[in-house]
Amino acid sequence: MSRPSIPEEVAELRASLSQFIDREVRPTEESYREEIQETGTFAALREEQLKMRKRSAEVGFWTLHMPESVGGGGLEYLGQVVLHEEASSHGLVLAQFESIFPVVTGPSPIHLDCTEPQREKYLAPLMSGDKVTCFALTEPEAGSDATRIRTRAASTGSGTWVLNGRKHFITAGESADFALVFAVTDPERRAHGGITAFFVDAGTPGFSVTRVQRTMSPYQNPVEFTFEDVEVGEEQVLGQVGFGFYSAVRGINGARLQIAASALGIAQNLLRRSLEYAKSRVAFERPIGSNQYIQGMLVDSHAELEQARLLVYECARRIDEGADGRREAALAKLVATEMVGRVADRAIQVHGGTGFMTELGLEAWYRDVRAMRLYEGTSEILRTNIAKTLGL
Ligand SMILES: Cc1cc2nc3c(=O)[nH]c(=O)nc-3n(C[C@H](O)[C@H](O)[C@H](O)COP(=O)(O)OP(=O)(O)OC[C@H]3O[C@@H](n4cnc5c(N)ncnc54)[C@H](O)[C@@H]3O)c2cc1C
Repeated sequence: MSRPSIPEEVAELRASLSQFIDREVRPTEESYREEIQETGTFAALREEQLKMRKRSAEVGFWTLHMPESVGGGGLEYLGQVVLHEEASSHGLVLAQFESIFPVVTGPSPIHLDCTEPQREKYLAPLMSGDKVTCFALTEPEAGSDATRIRTRAASTGSGTWVLNGRKHFITAGESADFALVFAVTDPERRAHGGITAFFVDAGTPGFSVTRVQRTMSPYQNPVEFTFEDVEVGEEQVLGQVGFGFYSAVRGINGARLQIAASALGIAQNLLRRSLEYAKSRVAFERPIGSNQYIQGMLVDSHAELEQARLLVYECARRIDEGADGRREAALAKLVATEMVGRVADRAIQVHGGTGFMTELGLEAWYRDVRAMRLYEGTSEILRTNIAKTLGL
C-alpha cells in the first residue's frame, strides 16, 4: 500500500521501530498467545507491558515526542503519527496501549509545566519508564463538559490542599504511581481559571481505587477513584492554581493525532488480513475475493484508509508548520476513528463466522476500536470543535 512521502529520518525511525517490534515485541506476545486467546483479556500481558515501556525508554522510542529541553527526542507531529501508525499496524497488543509510546500514562507535554523539583520527582521517572501516571479528569457527572467536575480542592490556608470527590473511566488508574487530578479550586470561575491540576501519589491517605471498570474492550479496564480528605502540598500543584485546563490542552493535539494514527495502523492490519483471507478462502469453487460483494467491502476499506491517512499526515504537517491545531487534530481523529470502526466491521464480515470467533482476535479489535470515538473528545465534540473553526 502506498504511503504519503515522509522525511528520510522519519522513514529510518519507522524502519528501526518495525525491527524492534519484530525482534522484541512479537516473540514476547507470541509466548502469551494461547493465554490471551483462552482468557480473551490483556491481563496476562500487564507486567510485560510495564517491562516493554522501560525497554522502549532505553532504546529511545518512549520519549521521542518530548522536547529535547527535557531529554526527549523532539520529534515533530508528523513523525509521531508515522510511528504510532507503524506500531499499531503489526496487530500486536503489546505494540500498543502505551507499551512503546505513551499517550496519557507517561510523559506528556502537559508535564512541561512542572517546576524543577516536580521534573525530578514526577517527570524524570516517567521519561525513564520507571513510573506510570494517569490523567484523572472525567467524573460521573462530567465528561465532555469538564467544567462541571465536582471534585473539590480546598485550601487549608497553611500551604496544603484537601481533595474530595470521585473520578471514573481513568485509564491505567490501577497501576499508576501517581495521578494528575483535576479539581475545582474556585467554584465561581470553573470555566475560566477555577480548576487546578494536582499530582496525587498512590498511597496518599484517603486516595483509593474504588472500582475497576469492565468494558467492551478486552484490553481496557479504567478505574474509579475516590478522594476522601486527601491532603496534598502546594508543591503538588501543576502549573498555576486555577489554570489546570491550560496544562491539559498542551497535550490534546498530540493525543488526538496519536489516536488517529493508531486507528490508521489498526485498519491497515485488519485490511491486510482481510485481503489475505479473501484470496485464500474458497466458496462455490472460487476464492471469495472474486465476488464483487467481497471486493466492494475491501475496496471501500482501502479507499477510506487511504483518504484518512492522507488527511492525518496532512493535519500533522500543518500543525508542525504552525497551525494552532484545533481544527486539524479534531479532523484527523474524527475521520480516522470513524474509518477504523467501519474497516473492523467489514473485516469480520469478510471472514464470515470465523471473524466472529475469538481465535483470530479480529472481534477483539472490533470491540476495542469502538472506544476511540469516545475518549479524547467524542466524535460529536470534535464536530462541534470543527464547526467553531468554521465560524459556526
Ligand atoms: C476506554 C475509555 C478510557 C478513558 N480514559 C480516560 C482517562 O484516562 N481520563 C479521563 O479523564 N477520562 C477518560 N475517559 C473518559 C472520556 O474522556 C469520556 O468518556 C468522554 O469525554 C465523554 O464523556 P462522557 O462519557 O461523560 O459522555 P457525555 O459527555 O455525557 O456525552 C454523552 C453523549 O452526548 C454527546 N454530547 C455531549 N455534549 C455534546 C454537545 N455539546 N454536542 C453534541 N453532542 C454532545 C457525546 O458526544 C456523547 O455522545 C475514558 C473513556 C473511555 C471510554
